[in-house]
Amino acid sequence: MTRRMSPTRRLAIYTAHQGRCHICGERIDGARERWEVEHIVPYALTRDDTDANLAPAHVSCHATKTPGDVAQIAKAKRVQAKHVGAWRPRSKLPGSRGTPFRRKINGTTERREP
Ligand SMILES: [Zn+2]
Repeated sequence: MTRRMSPTRRLAIYTAHQGRCHICGERIDGARERWEVEHIVPYALTRDDTDANLAPAHVSCHATKTPGDVAQIAKAKRVQAKHVGAWRPRSKLPGSRGTPFRRKINGTTERREP
């Protein structure tokens, strides 16, 4: 995350996590390694901006995690869209409602009436 945060709050979050990177679990050497305060659960998912959802992470670890977040966020949005009925997957199996054909019990297919 790139939002500005006071050094006091950064230090409080760093201390609360014993200076450990929440992504790789290694100790962060604050004097030699670049780190930033990061959302544990992506902010776009939870809108949780409290200290409980914040932890220090190496900048390098964060860079590798973010592309995964994007996929996770996209999936969460799809799941939510499905949940409210805005989007539903259509099965393309022959005879299913996703196709314009209907399979009859005797094995022949016919066009579904509109
Ligand atoms: Zn790390």
